[in-house]
Amino acid sequence: MTPRIAIIGAGLAGLTLARELSEHADITLFEKARGLGGRMSSRRRDQQRWDHGAQFFTARSRAFKALLTPFMESGAVVAWQPNITTLSPNQAPYKRPWFEPHYVAAPAMNSLLKAMSPGLNIALQTRVQSLEPQGDRWRLLDDQGEWLGEFDWVISSAPLPQTRELLPLAADAYAGFGMRPCYALMLTVDDRDLPVWDAAKVNDSPLGWIAFNHRLPGRNPEVGAVVAHSSADWAEAHLEDDQDAVREQLTAEFCALTGVAPNAVQEAQLHRWRYALATEVDGEPVGYVLDTARKLAACGDWCLGGRVEAAFTSARRLAARLRERGL
Ligand SMILES: Cc1cc2nc3c(=O)[nH]c(=O)nc-3n(C[C@H](O)[C@H](O)[C@H](O)COP(=O)(O)OP(=O)(O)OC[C@H]3O[C@@H](n4cnc5c(N)ncnc54)[C@H](O)[C@@H]3O)c2cc1C
Repeated sequence: MTPRIAIIGAGLAGLTLARELSEHADITLFEKARGLGGRMSSRRRDQQRWDHGAQFFTARSRAFKALLTPFMESGAVVAWQPNITTLSPNQAPYKRPWFEPHYVAAPAMNSLLKAMSPGLNIALQTRVQSLEPQGDRWRLLDDQGEWLGEFDWVISSAPLPQTRELLPLAADAYAGFGMRPCYALMLTVDDRDLPVWDAAKVNDSPLGWIAFNHRLPGRNPEVGAVVAHSSADWAEAHLEDDQDAVREQLTAEFCALTGVAPNAVQEAQLHRWRYALATEVDGEPVGYVLDTARKLAACGDWCLGGRVEAAFTSARRLAARLRERGL
């Protein structure tokens, strides 16, 4: 009989895993959000789009380059060559060249995931709340207590703390992994009021990164959309602060760093990513967590120390291992 697999999370790792195993199993992806994206999400309003999670990605492995090739041909993935600078309150700005190709999805960061999703069975707006053993299978329940089905395998691609809550794996299965928070500030500023550079790495500041999203390839350059990310240290120290105060403080910091007049900021929104960036993993990690006896597994960027390509590689390695053992 074809094994049934539930994959929790339809970010890059979940979609990669589903594509890699689709010929070997009957797969359902459960995604709590309204749309695809995960940490490669975009917030949209009319003509404006803010990529408030991942900003760009690199492609180092042959396998990831192979995944991207057809999407580059279709225009869903585009090389990004910004005029990038480094900012600090204590130093004059200096240019910061990139020495390897960087990519973005177009017209928004989640376009890559949308392009990967046709043919997959994805239940959106479905938060997996718990799983319980049912004979030699797993029964999944959502946050309304509704039954989501019975599966031979349950694989989580959710961020580490959410996976840890869901999957009853031994505590040491998660040793050595970690995740840190980040605030994303999304501003509306007319392009004429912004500096000439397109993106900035920021040092010695509550902010760590600034990008003018409307100047990215495939976006509408007419409607200014700025994304500024806090540093992980600052987000950790201010995680439970009043969110209006956080938004105001980060907006003021943005203006001070860039020289943009405060009254040029037409609107400011804030998103708190509690689990944004994975910490580095020591040694040579296998790239996934696997309990073959109970048919539970986890994958995602955090298994390999973070970043978009790590999410892909983690899922691909897990899929290869599962195929190798005949699931
Ligand atoms: C602010 C920020 C900036 C970043 N910048 C970069 C960058 O510039 N370059 C780079 O390479 N990487 C960057 N990253 C990291 C990159 O976004 C991630 O490495 C990558 O998107 C992780 O993909 P994933 O599939 O492993 O996890 P995710 O994208 O987090 O996908 C997990 C999915 O699981 C879903 N989920 C969770 N719990 C449940 C549940 N109980 N039921 C159902 N669904 C659930 C979530 O909604 C989510 O869609 C950034 C991330 C953030 C947040």
